[in-house]
Amino acid sequence: MAKVLCVLYDDPVKGMPKQYARDGVPEITRYHDGQTAPTPKAIDFTPGELLGSVSGELGLRKYLESLGHTLVVTSDKDGPNSTFERELADAEVVISQPFWPAYLTAERIAKAPKLKLALTAGIGSDHVDLQAAIERGVTVAEVTYCNSISVAEHVVMMILGLVRNYLPSHEWVKKGGWNIADCVERAYDLEAMHVGTVAAGRIGAAVLRRLKPFDVKLHYTDRYRLPLDVEKELGATWHPDVESMVKACDVVTINCPLHPETENLFNEKLIAKMKRGAYIVNTARGKIVDRDAIVRALESGQLAGYAGDVWFPQPAPRDHPWRTMPHNGMTPHISGTTLSAQARYAAGTREILECWFEKRPIRDEYLIVDGGKLAGVGAHSYSAGNATSGSEEAARFKTA
Ligand code: NDP
Repeated sequence: MAKVLCVLYDDPVKGMPKQYARDGVPEITRYHDGQTAPTPKAIDFTPGELLGSVSGELGLRKYLESLGHTLVVTSDKDGPNSTFERELADAEVVISQPFWPAYLTAERIAKAPKLKLALTAGIGSDHVDLQAAIERGVTVAEVTYCNSISVAEHVVMMILGLVRNYLPSHEWVKKGGWNIADCVERAYDLEAMHVGTVAAGRIGAAVLRRLKPFDVKLHYTDRYRLPLDVEKELGATWHPDVESMVKACDVVTINCPLHPETENLFNEKLIAKMKRGAYIVNTARGKIVDRDAIVRALESGQLAGYAGDVWFPQPAPRDHPWRTMPHNGMTPHISGTTLSAQARYAAGTREILECWFEKRPIRDEYLIVDGGKLAGVGAHSYSAGNATSGSEEAARFKTA
Protein backbone atom coordinates (compact mmCIF):
# COMPACT_ATOMS: atom_id res chain seq x y z
CA MET A 1 0.00 0.00 0.00
CA ALA A 2 1.24 3.45 -0.85
CA LYS A 3 1.73 6.60 1.14
CA VAL A 4 0.43 9.68 -0.65
CA LEU A 5 1.81 12.98 0.62
CA CYS A 6 -0.27 15.98 -0.37
CA VAL A 7 0.81 19.59 0.18
CA LEU A 8 -1.98 22.15 0.11
CA TYR A 9 -2.33 25.78 1.12
CA ASP A 10 -3.75 26.76 4.52
CA ASP A 11 -7.49 26.93 5.20
CA PRO A 12 -9.09 30.41 5.30
CA VAL A 13 -8.13 32.41 8.40
CA LYS A 14 -11.75 32.16 9.65
CA GLY A 15 -12.01 28.43 8.93
CA MET A 16 -13.65 26.52 6.09
CA PRO A 17 -16.65 28.31 4.54
CA LYS A 18 -20.03 27.33 5.98
CA GLN A 19 -21.74 28.73 2.92
CA TYR A 20 -20.53 29.68 -0.55
CA ALA A 21 -21.23 32.85 -2.56
CA ARG A 22 -22.83 30.80 -5.33
CA ASP A 23 -24.60 27.47 -5.56
CA GLY A 24 -22.13 25.44 -7.59
CA VAL A 25 -20.04 26.04 -10.71
CA PRO A 26 -20.84 25.48 -14.38
CA GLU A 27 -19.70 22.11 -15.67
CA ILE A 28 -17.16 22.06 -18.49
CA THR A 29 -16.75 18.78 -20.31
CA ARG A 30 -14.45 19.81 -23.19
CA TYR A 31 -11.85 22.49 -23.75
CA HIS A 32 -11.39 24.73 -26.79
CA ASP A 33 -9.12 22.27 -28.64
CA GLY A 34 -11.49 19.34 -28.05
CA GLN A 35 -9.53 17.78 -25.15
CA THR A 36 -11.92 16.32 -22.60
CA ALA A 37 -11.99 17.72 -19.08
CA PRO A 38 -10.87 15.19 -16.40
CA THR A 39 -12.72 11.88 -16.49
CA PRO A 40 -12.19 10.06 -13.19
CA LYS A 41 -14.45 7.07 -12.52
CA ALA A 42 -15.97 8.95 -9.57
CA ILE A 43 -15.47 11.99 -7.34
CA ASP A 44 -16.19 12.38 -3.63
CA PHE A 45 -16.68 16.16 -3.52
CA THR A 46 -19.23 18.72 -4.62
CA PRO A 47 -17.85 20.97 -7.40
CA GLY A 48 -17.70 24.54 -6.09
CA GLU A 49 -16.37 23.58 -2.65
CA LEU A 50 -12.98 24.73 -1.39
CA LEU A 51 -10.80 21.72 -2.18
CA GLY A 52 -7.30 23.22 -2.53
CA SER A 53 -6.73 23.98 1.16
CA VAL A 54 -5.69 21.47 3.82
CA SER A 55 -9.21 20.55 4.99
CA GLY A 56 -10.43 20.23 1.39
CA GLU A 57 -7.87 17.44 0.79
CA LEU A 58 -8.64 17.67 -2.95
CA GLY A 59 -11.54 15.37 -2.09
CA LEU A 60 -9.16 12.38 -2.11
CA ARG A 61 -9.29 10.82 1.37
CA LYS A 62 -12.27 8.51 0.98
CA TYR A 63 -10.99 7.14 -2.33
CA LEU A 64 -7.40 6.57 -1.20
CA GLU A 65 -8.29 5.07 2.18
CA SER A 66 -10.85 2.75 0.61
CA LEU A 67 -7.94 1.21 -1.30
CA GLY A 68 -5.85 0.92 1.86
CA HIS A 69 -3.45 3.75 1.01
CA THR A 70 -2.34 6.38 3.51
CA LEU A 71 -3.02 10.05 2.81
CA VAL A 72 -1.01 12.71 4.64
CA VAL A 73 -2.03 16.32 3.99
CA THR A 74 0.01 19.28 5.21
CA SER A 75 0.73 22.92 4.42
CA ASP A 76 4.05 22.80 6.30
CA LYS A 77 6.36 22.42 3.31
CA ASP A 78 9.51 24.50 3.72
CA GLY A 79 12.73 23.94 5.62
CA PRO A 80 14.46 20.77 6.82
CA ASN A 81 12.18 20.45 9.88
CA SER A 82 8.95 20.74 7.91
CA THR A 83 6.27 18.04 8.03
CA PHE A 84 6.75 17.64 4.28
CA GLU A 85 10.41 16.78 4.58
CA ARG A 86 9.75 14.37 7.46
CA GLU A 87 6.92 12.57 5.67
CA LEU A 88 8.79 12.43 2.36
CA ALA A 89 11.06 9.63 3.56
CA ASP A 90 8.57 6.84 2.76
CA ALA A 91 6.15 8.55 0.34
CA GLU A 92 5.41 6.94 -3.04
CA VAL A 93 3.34 9.82 -4.40
CA VAL A 94 3.72 13.55 -3.77
CA ILE A 95 0.88 15.87 -4.78
CA SER A 96 1.48 19.60 -4.83
CA GLN A 97 -0.20 22.71 -6.25
CA PRO A 98 1.87 25.45 -7.91
CA PHE A 99 0.13 28.08 -5.73
CA TRP A 100 1.81 26.66 -2.62
CA PRO A 101 4.52 24.54 -4.17
CA ALA A 102 6.30 21.73 -2.36
CA TYR A 103 9.69 22.26 -3.97
CA LEU A 104 11.03 18.85 -4.94
CA THR A 105 14.72 19.65 -5.24
CA ALA A 106 17.36 17.04 -6.09
CA GLU A 107 18.29 16.90 -2.37
CA ARG A 108 14.70 16.15 -1.40
CA ILE A 109 14.28 13.58 -4.16
CA ALA A 110 17.44 11.88 -2.84
CA LYS A 111 15.80 11.71 0.61
CA ALA A 112 12.70 9.99 -0.85
CA PRO A 113 13.83 6.53 -1.97
CA LYS A 114 10.24 5.29 -2.50
CA LEU A 115 9.08 8.30 -4.52
CA LYS A 116 7.68 7.25 -7.90
CA LEU A 117 5.11 9.91 -8.86
CA ALA A 118 5.18 13.71 -8.48
CA LEU A 119 1.72 14.94 -9.35
CA THR A 120 0.96 18.60 -9.91
CA ALA A 121 -2.63 19.42 -9.05
CA GLY A 122 -2.67 22.23 -11.59
CA ILE A 123 -0.32 23.22 -14.42
CA GLY A 124 3.43 23.93 -14.23
CA SER A 125 5.82 21.39 -12.74
CA ASP A 126 8.83 23.68 -12.45
CA HIS A 127 8.76 23.23 -8.65
CA VAL A 128 10.11 19.73 -9.36
CA ASP A 129 13.78 19.41 -10.34
CA LEU A 130 12.92 17.76 -13.65
CA GLN A 131 16.52 16.75 -14.29
CA ALA A 132 16.64 14.90 -10.96
CA ALA A 133 13.24 13.30 -11.70
CA ILE A 134 14.55 12.15 -15.10
CA GLU A 135 17.68 10.67 -13.53
CA ARG A 136 15.78 8.93 -10.70
CA GLY A 137 12.99 7.64 -12.96
CA VAL A 138 10.26 9.56 -11.10
CA THR A 139 7.12 10.16 -13.20
CA VAL A 140 5.95 13.80 -13.25
CA ALA A 141 2.39 14.58 -14.34
CA GLU A 142 0.12 17.61 -14.28
CA VAL A 143 -3.53 18.33 -15.12
CA THR A 144 -3.03 20.04 -18.46
CA TYR A 145 -5.70 22.61 -19.41
CA CYS A 146 -7.53 22.37 -16.06
CA ASN A 147 -7.03 26.05 -15.22
CA SER A 148 -5.69 27.61 -18.43
CA ILE A 149 -8.88 29.60 -18.98
CA SER A 150 -8.99 30.65 -15.32
CA VAL A 151 -5.55 32.21 -15.86
CA ALA A 152 -6.45 33.76 -19.22
CA GLU A 153 -9.37 35.57 -17.53
CA HIS A 154 -7.02 36.82 -14.79
CA VAL A 155 -4.58 38.11 -17.43
CA VAL A 156 -7.29 40.11 -19.19
CA MET A 157 -8.46 41.49 -15.84
CA MET A 158 -4.92 42.54 -14.92
CA ILE A 159 -4.18 44.15 -18.28
CA LEU A 160 -7.32 46.27 -17.98
CA GLY A 161 -6.60 46.95 -14.31
CA LEU A 162 -3.15 48.35 -15.06
CA VAL A 163 -3.92 50.29 -18.22
CA ARG A 164 -7.06 51.89 -16.75
CA ASN A 165 -5.44 52.47 -13.31
CA TYR A 166 -8.23 50.54 -11.56
CA LEU A 167 -6.67 49.60 -8.21
CA PRO A 168 -5.37 53.08 -7.26
CA SER A 169 -8.75 54.58 -8.25
CA HIS A 170 -10.55 52.07 -6.02
CA GLU A 171 -8.23 53.06 -3.16
CA TRP A 172 -9.39 56.71 -3.47
CA VAL A 173 -13.02 55.61 -3.05
CA LYS A 174 -12.16 53.53 0.02
CA LYS A 175 -10.36 56.53 1.54
CA GLY A 176 -13.56 58.63 1.14
CA GLY A 177 -12.12 60.69 -1.73
CA TRP A 178 -13.43 61.77 -5.13
CA ASN A 179 -10.05 62.54 -6.65
CA ILE A 180 -10.77 62.20 -10.33
CA ALA A 181 -7.58 63.85 -11.57
CA ASP A 182 -5.46 61.66 -9.29
CA CYS A 183 -7.21 58.60 -10.67
CA VAL A 184 -6.96 59.48 -14.34
CA GLU A 185 -3.46 60.92 -14.52
CA ARG A 186 -2.27 57.37 -15.29
CA ALA A 187 -5.42 56.00 -16.98
CA TYR A 188 -5.58 55.05 -20.68
CA ASP A 189 -7.80 53.07 -23.04
CA LEU A 190 -6.60 49.67 -24.15
CA GLU A 191 -8.17 50.17 -27.58
CA ALA A 192 -5.61 50.31 -30.43
CA MET A 193 -2.69 49.37 -28.18
CA HIS A 194 -0.26 46.65 -29.28
CA VAL A 195 -0.58 43.65 -26.97
CA GLY A 196 1.75 40.66 -27.22
CA THR A 197 2.00 37.28 -25.53
CA VAL A 198 5.18 35.32 -24.90
CA ALA A 199 3.86 31.87 -25.89
CA ALA A 200 0.58 31.10 -27.57
CA GLY A 201 -0.13 27.80 -25.84
CA ARG A 202 -3.38 27.10 -24.06
CA ILE A 203 -3.30 30.26 -21.92
CA GLY A 204 -1.56 32.55 -24.41
CA ALA A 205 -3.95 31.68 -27.25
CA ALA A 206 -6.95 32.05 -24.93
CA VAL A 207 -5.71 35.53 -23.98
CA LEU A 208 -5.42 36.44 -27.67
CA ARG A 209 -8.96 35.17 -28.33
CA ARG A 210 -10.35 37.12 -25.39
CA LEU A 211 -8.57 40.35 -26.31
CA LYS A 212 -9.55 40.37 -29.98
CA PRO A 213 -12.92 42.11 -29.37
CA PHE A 214 -11.09 44.98 -27.64
CA ASP A 215 -9.81 46.17 -31.04
CA VAL A 216 -6.19 45.90 -30.03
CA LYS A 217 -3.28 44.90 -32.27
CA LEU A 218 -2.24 41.41 -31.29
CA HIS A 219 1.26 39.91 -31.33
CA TYR A 220 2.81 36.65 -30.18
CA THR A 221 6.09 34.78 -30.10
CA ASP A 222 6.33 31.03 -29.64
CA ARG A 223 8.69 28.24 -30.56
CA TYR A 224 6.03 26.85 -32.90
CA ARG A 225 3.85 29.11 -35.01
CA LEU A 226 0.04 28.88 -34.75
CA PRO A 227 -1.72 27.48 -37.82
CA LEU A 228 -2.00 30.26 -40.41
CA ASP A 229 -5.82 30.23 -40.38
CA VAL A 230 -5.78 30.78 -36.60
CA GLU A 231 -3.26 33.61 -36.97
CA LYS A 232 -5.52 35.17 -39.58
CA GLU A 233 -8.69 34.74 -37.54
CA LEU A 234 -7.05 36.48 -34.57
CA GLY A 235 -5.24 39.03 -36.68
CA ALA A 236 -2.12 38.21 -34.65
CA THR A 237 1.42 38.96 -35.81
CA TRP A 238 4.03 36.27 -35.08
CA HIS A 239 7.54 37.30 -34.04
CA PRO A 240 10.49 34.91 -34.35
CA ASP A 241 11.88 36.04 -30.99
CA VAL A 242 10.77 37.78 -27.84
CA GLU A 243 12.99 40.81 -28.49
CA SER A 244 11.33 41.73 -31.75
CA MET A 245 7.90 41.32 -30.11
CA VAL A 246 8.51 43.45 -27.02
CA LYS A 247 9.85 46.31 -29.13
CA ALA A 248 6.46 46.50 -30.87
CA CYS A 249 4.22 46.19 -27.80
CA ASP A 250 2.55 48.49 -25.28
CA VAL A 251 1.45 45.52 -23.17
CA VAL A 252 3.29 42.20 -22.82
CA THR A 253 1.81 39.15 -21.14
CA ILE A 254 3.99 36.17 -20.26
CA ASN A 255 2.43 32.73 -20.72
CA CYS A 256 5.30 30.26 -21.25
CA PRO A 257 6.41 27.60 -18.76
CA LEU A 258 9.45 28.16 -16.58
CA HIS A 259 12.32 25.96 -17.69
CA PRO A 260 16.03 26.66 -18.20
CA GLU A 261 15.34 28.35 -21.55
CA THR A 262 12.89 30.89 -20.10
CA GLU A 263 14.44 31.52 -16.66
CA ASN A 264 15.37 35.22 -16.32
CA LEU A 265 14.16 35.94 -19.87
CA PHE A 266 12.97 39.41 -18.89
CA ASN A 267 16.27 40.81 -17.64
CA GLU A 268 17.48 44.42 -17.57
CA LYS A 269 18.62 44.20 -21.19
CA LEU A 270 15.29 42.99 -22.58
CA ILE A 271 13.24 45.40 -20.47
CA ALA A 272 15.39 48.28 -21.80
CA LYS A 273 14.31 47.30 -25.33
CA MET A 274 10.60 47.70 -24.48
CA LYS A 275 8.70 50.90 -25.24
CA ARG A 276 8.93 53.42 -22.38
CA GLY A 277 5.72 53.12 -20.37
CA ALA A 278 4.96 49.53 -21.37
CA TYR A 279 3.09 47.18 -19.04
CA ILE A 280 3.96 43.58 -18.14
CA VAL A 281 1.46 41.01 -16.88
CA ASN A 282 3.08 37.77 -15.73
CA THR A 283 0.91 34.93 -14.52
CA ALA A 284 3.38 32.29 -15.76
CA ARG A 285 6.21 32.07 -13.22
CA GLY A 286 8.10 34.66 -11.14
CA LYS A 287 11.53 33.41 -12.18
CA ILE A 288 10.91 34.21 -15.85
CA VAL A 289 11.62 37.84 -14.96
CA ASP A 290 14.52 39.41 -13.05
CA ARG A 291 12.93 40.48 -9.76
CA ASP A 292 15.06 43.57 -9.16
CA ALA A 293 15.15 44.69 -12.80
CA ILE A 294 11.33 44.94 -12.65
CA VAL A 295 11.48 47.10 -9.54
CA ARG A 296 14.07 49.42 -11.11
CA ALA A 297 12.07 49.72 -14.35
CA LEU A 298 8.93 50.73 -12.43
CA GLU A 299 10.88 53.25 -10.37
CA SER A 300 12.50 54.81 -13.45
CA GLY A 301 9.29 54.86 -15.51
CA GLN A 302 10.60 52.44 -18.15
CA LEU A 303 7.62 50.27 -17.17
CA ALA A 304 4.26 51.93 -16.40
CA GLY A 305 2.95 48.92 -14.51
CA TYR A 306 3.53 45.30 -13.56
CA ALA A 307 0.92 42.80 -12.46
CA GLY A 308 0.72 39.09 -12.02
CA ASP A 309 0.25 36.42 -9.41
CA VAL A 310 3.48 34.46 -9.60
CA TRP A 311 6.48 35.06 -7.36
CA PHE A 312 9.68 33.29 -6.45
CA PRO A 313 9.82 31.64 -4.08
CA GLN A 314 6.27 30.99 -2.93
CA PRO A 315 5.09 32.05 -0.47
CA ALA A 316 7.02 35.25 -1.16
CA PRO A 317 9.00 36.55 1.84
CA ARG A 318 7.16 39.30 3.67
CA ASP A 319 9.80 41.83 2.57
CA HIS A 320 9.67 40.83 -1.13
CA PRO A 321 10.03 44.14 -3.07
CA TRP A 322 7.10 43.34 -5.39
CA ARG A 323 4.73 43.80 -2.46
CA THR A 324 5.56 47.50 -2.27
CA MET A 325 7.05 48.52 -5.65
CA PRO A 326 5.23 51.38 -7.45
CA HIS A 327 2.42 50.74 -9.94
CA ASN A 328 2.04 47.05 -9.16
CA GLY A 329 -1.17 45.06 -9.30
CA MET A 330 0.11 41.87 -7.71
CA THR A 331 -2.04 39.17 -6.15
CA PRO A 332 -0.84 36.05 -4.41
CA HIS A 333 -0.80 33.04 -6.73
CA ILE A 334 -4.55 32.62 -7.18
CA SER A 335 -5.49 32.86 -10.84
CA GLY A 336 -5.55 29.11 -11.43
CA THR A 337 -7.24 28.15 -8.18
CA THR A 338 -10.72 29.61 -8.40
CA LEU A 339 -13.39 27.30 -7.01
CA SER A 340 -14.24 26.49 -10.64
CA ALA A 341 -10.63 25.48 -11.39
CA GLN A 342 -10.29 23.47 -8.18
CA ALA A 343 -13.18 21.22 -9.19
CA ARG A 344 -11.37 20.41 -12.45
CA TYR A 345 -7.90 19.83 -11.08
CA ALA A 346 -9.17 17.81 -8.12
CA ALA A 347 -10.98 15.58 -10.64
CA GLY A 348 -7.82 15.45 -12.80
CA THR A 349 -5.70 14.48 -9.80
CA ARG A 350 -8.16 11.69 -9.05
CA GLU A 351 -8.05 10.55 -12.68
CA ILE A 352 -4.23 10.36 -12.64
CA LEU A 353 -4.23 8.48 -9.30
CA GLU A 354 -6.79 5.99 -10.61
CA CYS A 355 -4.55 5.34 -13.63
CA TRP A 356 -1.48 5.03 -11.40
CA PHE A 357 -2.94 2.56 -8.92
CA GLU A 358 -4.75 0.54 -11.61
CA LYS A 359 -1.54 0.47 -13.69
CA ARG A 360 -3.30 2.08 -16.65
CA PRO A 361 -1.43 4.63 -18.80
CA ILE A 362 -1.76 8.27 -17.75
CA ARG A 363 -3.02 10.45 -20.62
CA ASP A 364 -0.14 11.67 -22.78
CA GLU A 365 -1.34 15.24 -22.39
CA TYR A 366 -0.79 14.98 -18.60
CA LEU A 367 2.76 13.58 -18.72
CA ILE A 368 5.81 15.79 -18.18
CA VAL A 369 8.47 13.19 -17.30
CA ASP A 370 8.11 9.44 -17.66
CA GLY A 371 10.47 6.54 -18.14
CA GLY A 372 13.57 8.65 -17.47
CA LYS A 373 12.88 11.35 -20.06
CA LEU A 374 10.63 14.29 -20.88
CA ALA A 375 7.38 12.80 -22.14
CA GLY A 376 3.94 13.76 -23.46
CA VAL A 377 3.19 17.46 -23.14
CA GLY A 378 6.48 17.88 -21.26
CA ALA A 379 8.49 16.81 -24.29
CA HIS A 380 6.78 19.55 -26.31
CA SER A 381 6.78 22.48 -23.89
CA TYR A 382 9.65 22.00 -21.43
CA SER A 383 13.43 21.57 -21.66
CA ALA A 384 15.33 19.26 -19.32
CA GLY A 385 17.17 20.81 -16.37
CA ASN A 386 16.37 22.36 -13.04
CA ALA A 387 14.53 25.59 -12.18
CA THR A 388 14.18 25.08 -8.40
CA SER A 389 17.42 26.68 -7.22
CA GLY A 390 16.86 29.28 -4.51
CA SER A 391 13.58 27.67 -3.41
CA GLU A 392 14.89 27.21 0.15
CA GLU A 393 14.22 30.94 0.62
CA ALA A 394 10.50 30.07 0.88
CA ALA A 395 11.16 29.06 4.50
CA ARG A 396 11.68 32.77 5.32
CA PHE A 397 7.91 33.37 5.10
CA LYS A 398 7.41 31.33 8.30
CA THR A 399 10.10 33.06 10.31
CA ALA A 400 9.95 36.69 9.13
P1 NDP B 1 0.89 25.21 -22.66
O1 NDP B 1 1.83 24.07 -22.57
O2 NDP B 1 -0.39 25.06 -23.38
O3 NDP B 1 1.63 26.45 -23.31
C1 NDP B 1 2.94 26.78 -23.08
C2 NDP B 1 3.47 27.41 -24.35
O4 NDP B 1 4.74 27.98 -24.07
C3 NDP B 1 3.64 26.42 -25.47
O5 NDP B 1 3.03 26.96 -26.65
C4 NDP B 1 5.16 26.37 -25.61
O6 NDP B 1 5.60 26.17 -26.91
C5 NDP B 1 5.54 27.77 -25.21
N1 NDP B 1 6.96 27.91 -24.91
C6 NDP B 1 7.75 27.09 -24.22
N2 NDP B 1 9.00 27.58 -24.17
C7 NDP B 1 8.97 28.74 -24.85
C8 NDP B 1 9.96 29.71 -25.16
N3 NDP B 1 11.23 29.54 -24.79
N4 NDP B 1 9.58 30.80 -25.89
C9 NDP B 1 8.31 30.95 -26.32
N5 NDP B 1 7.34 30.04 -26.04
C10 NDP B 1 7.67 28.96 -25.32
O7 NDP B 1 0.64 25.67 -21.15
P2 NDP B 1 -0.45 26.69 -20.57
O8 NDP B 1 -0.67 27.77 -21.56
O9 NDP B 1 -1.61 25.96 -20.03
O10 NDP B 1 0.37 27.23 -19.31
C11 NDP B 1 1.57 27.98 -19.50
C12 NDP B 1 2.23 28.25 -18.15
O11 NDP B 1 1.40 29.10 -17.37
C13 NDP B 1 2.42 27.01 -17.27
O12 NDP B 1 3.58 26.30 -17.62
C14 NDP B 1 2.52 27.62 -15.91
O13 NDP B 1 3.85 28.00 -15.66
C15 NDP B 1 1.66 28.86 -16.01
N6 NDP B 1 0.39 28.68 -15.30
C16 NDP B 1 0.08 29.54 -14.28
C17 NDP B 1 -1.05 29.37 -13.55
C18 NDP B 1 -1.43 30.34 -12.47
O14 NDP B 1 -2.27 30.01 -11.62
N7 NDP B 1 -0.89 31.54 -12.45
C19 NDP B 1 -1.96 28.24 -13.78
C20 NDP B 1 -1.63 27.48 -14.96
C21 NDP B 1 -0.46 27.67 -15.64
P3 NDP B 1 5.57 24.76 -27.61
O15 NDP B 1 4.66 23.85 -26.84
O16 NDP B 1 4.99 25.22 -28.90
O17 NDP B 1 6.96 24.33 -27.56
